[in-house]
Amino acid sequence: MSKLIFLLLLGLIAFLLFKGLRGGSRTPRRPRPRIENMVACAVCGVRVPESESLSRGDLHYCCEEHLKQSGR
Ligand SMILES: [Zn+2]
Repeated sequence: MSKLIFLLLLGLIAFLLFKGLRGGSRTPRRPRPRIENMVACAVCGVRVPESESLSRGDLHYCCEEHLKQSGR
């Protein structure tokens, strides 16, 4: 008899766990690739990630040389 109760309890626990897992608001974490904003060099047009570019005003440059070149 106690075996039956044990099985019932086990079933109840499993049911609650299952319900808890499904009802949870946890969303599967999906690794999202970091998309960086690409900017074009104002001198040569090479596209570089914004964080790696040199910028002055609204313009971006791929390297210091081009930054200087445009600063005439
Ligand atoms: Zn450039």
